[in-house]
Amino acid sequence: MTSQSSRDRLVSRLREQGIRHAAVLEAIAATPRHLFIDEAMSSHAYENTSLPIGLGQTISQPYIVARMSEALLGAADRLDKVLEIGTGSGYQAAVLSLLCQRVFTVERIEPLLRQARRRFHSLGLHNVFTRYADGQNGWLSQAPFDGIMVTAACPEVPEALLQQLAVGARLIAPVNALRRLDQASVQELLVITRSEDGFERQQLEDVSFVPLLPGLA
Ligand code: SAH
Repeated sequence: MTSQSSRDRLVSRLREQGIRHAAVLEAIAATPRHLFIDEAMSSHAYENTSLPIGLGQTISQPYIVARMSEALLGAADRLDKVLEIGTGSGYQAAVLSLLCQRVFTVERIEPLLRQARRRFHSLGLHNVFTRYADGQNGWLSQAPFDGIMVTAACPEVPEALLQQLAVGARLIAPVNALRRLDQASVQELLVITRSEDGFERQQLEDVSFVPLLPGLA
């Protein structure tokens, strides 16, 4: 149930759902998702669903991880420096570590971050760098980034993150949809591309993420 064949079946399903980027599919096939969730739930690791990871947080659905990774890469095969806000279990960062030279990931809940760090260490993912902080401020000393991924829902994209995006780079974030203010759990997945003279926004699909919260926990 935690084998390579389960991961390969998951990849076939993602392909059927329209994920096309070969490097993204390879990264999902190579990342042991069962090691990012509680052992009691590991039999569900390769189902295409989000799962609880404790402290009220969730590991995203594999389809969403793949979709967001694909959107972040665009036409590129690989990126250099990427920032993720919301480390959570560490799964998305682990997938990104196979698609980028360096991944910088920020989490505001310390026990989750400690556990994610242990996973990166035991899997030998030495290109993932972590920080215990409020991710709304980004990671200024490492900016600019060639891609930024926010994995928690925000009412609007924090200005600091937009400012830390390199020209030509993309930011992916679930943003609470104005037309759905009555449904706090629905967001639009936005892709924001920075050009020489501004930011261009594109809407991907509806998603449901836990909220981006201020301060440390
Ligand atoms: N990417 C994660 C899933 C994210 S769940 C994974 O692959 O498992 C969303 C995460 O964002 C939670 O762990 C939550 O604590 C974190 N988060 C929420 N607000 C944050 C903030 N301001 N800064 C950093 N992390 C934040």
